[in-house]
Amino acid sequence: MMASSVKGQDFDAVIVGAGFAGMYMLHKLRGLGLSVRVIETGDGVGGTWYWNRYPGARCDVESLEYQYGFSDEIQKGWNWSERYSAQPEILRYQNYVADKLDLKRDITFSTRVASANYDEASALWDINTQKVDGSGGETLHARFCIMATGCLSAARVPNFEGLEDFKGDWYHTGNWPHEGVDFTGKRVGVIGTGSSGVQSIPIIASQAKQVTVFQRTANFTLPAGNRKLKPEEVTASKATLLDDRKHALTTAGGIICFEYNEALASEMAPADLQKDLEDRWHMGGFAFLGTSADIMADKSVNDVAANFARSEMKARVKNKDVAEQLLPYDHPVGVKRLCLDTEYLETFDKDHVELVNAREHPVTRISAKGIVSGDKEYEVDAIVFATGFDAMTGAILGVDITGRRGERLADKWAAGPRTYLGLGSAGFPNLFFITGPGSPSVLSNMIVSIEQHVDWITECLARLNKSNLRSIEPTRDAEDEWVAHVNEVAATTLYPQANSWYMGANIPGKPQVFMPYPGGVGVYGEKLAEVAGADYAGFALGA
Ligand SMILES: Cc1cc2nc3c(=O)[nH]c(=O)nc-3n(C[C@H](O)[C@H](O)[C@H](O)COP(=O)(O)OP(=O)(O)OC[C@H]3O[C@@H](n4cnc5c(N)ncnc54)[C@H](O)[C@@H]3O)c2cc1C
Repeated sequence: MMASSVKGQDFDAVIVGAGFAGMYMLHKLRGLGLSVRVIETGDGVGGTWYWNRYPGARCDVESLEYQYGFSDEIQKGWNWSERYSAQPEILRYQNYVADKLDLKRDITFSTRVASANYDEASALWDINTQKVDGSGGETLHARFCIMATGCLSAARVPNFEGLEDFKGDWYHTGNWPHEGVDFTGKRVGVIGTGSSGVQSIPIIASQAKQVTVFQRTANFTLPAGNRKLKPEEVTASKATLLDDRKHALTTAGGIICFEYNEALASEMAPADLQKDLEDRWHMGGFAFLGTSADIMADKSVNDVAANFARSEMKARVKNKDVAEQLLPYDHPVGVKRLCLDTEYLETFDKDHVELVNAREHPVTRISAKGIVSGDKEYEVDAIVFATGFDAMTGAILGVDITGRRGERLADKWAAGPRTYLGLGSAGFPNLFFITGPGSPSVLSNMIVSIEQHVDWITECLARLNKSNLRSIEPTRDAEDEWVAHVNEVAATTLYPQANSWYMGANIPGKPQVFMPYPGGVGVYGEKLAEVAGADYAGFALGA
């Protein structure tokens, strides 16, 4: 227990969420000797990998990098089987870690945090929970409230008129039934062709009698090149993982399985550029976006890569009319998350798979029998919404958070999220976000970013404790400067040119601002270290 706990305090810290972030945060705060409680809506650990059980769900950062890097013992005790692990394996890994560290005893499952109010008199957070089954809730009083609620955890089902009248079954990829779904013999409508749609459609098509895919935006997708890992690769990775992680923390994306080319496209001979595009495309993964230093900044350079990508994609589909519709022309390559697929495009050559252009013929409503797009009704037995998430802010604002002087975070963020370093927001003392908006988060290998944030928060709390300080909170000036900086950096990139979920564009009415920090994990880490080294410059520390 912290030396300075006050009357009425139940815990030093409450952590909301038990995915990769919440689990590691719990482990680290225990290490400081703090009393901690984690509240998690699901009935198990895992977060993303607990909820996203749709067929084909797998990571798109290679397994050997998409794992914790903080413990040699943990990584040595686990063997990944595939280059990109499937959801069940990742969830098993998370349970292995939770059991190894004995985390579950401090986690309250099947419970959601509904609201969190900062009480200025006691300087504690009053955190109100509700049991998922409606059987009640409680109020926890904690000094620190840490939001490990995830960037992609607020699943979004579009508000289609008539959904309640639909006679068949419907599912969201981000909230998939635990017992699985068998589509054998069924007519299935899939709405959405982002990463989850791209991963699930080939598998749904391998079972269903008829699949109709409603595509509003064609996305860039490249073959993942998934394969079984060789035992010797797995063994070799164990010898270097901890050093590799240190290296990953210095890179832009927190990934080291490929190198970013530091040359500008104009400094490369056209034939070399073309060869590099080809090589990187065929490596699978995000290497393609490391072809030249300016691929994400210079539209003419990006156009070369996008043209190359489209020609590769087109070659995979025999029906050239359908192929043409599957090609993205409305955004630069990489500014929406690049999809990695296994036989996605080829699936559209199958006789029982139909592509509907939902941009030309928008889905207007769901009927009792199926999906109405344009003036046509498509009869289906099941609907899969692969429609993504209210990204980055959805789960944070899913908790009604009130800070000093009754200010609601939802009001403060009405025109877009405002944070200092993505870690905290002025007026909300002792409230932390892990991989919050304004940090590299979804533009990186998220486990690297999670560890970066958790380590920083842990060091910060240790510092407060040591000096008997009770609170920390960003100053408005530091926050304003950081928000301006994030916008400035985003403006030097092509990212704002797409209607992406990075911009909040998939949620009607959500303000469109670029939410993650595009400066890279390495540069961002230097800033974190600088701030901590200057005794938390930009934060007000209170006794
Ligand atoms: C299908 C899919 C594939 C992905 N693949 C990759 C990948 O390959 N590489 C990569 O870097 N990232 C990937 N991501 C991003 C992924 O979300 C992160 O890598 C990582 O799992 C996030 O961990 P987290 O703990 O921050 O959040 P999450 O895993 O989202 O966990 C947050 C938890 O908080 C809980 N929660 C939220 N609100 C509340 C509340 N009010 N009360 C109680 N509990 C609450 C949720 O139930 C959830 O369990 C993927 C995401 C998806 C959806």
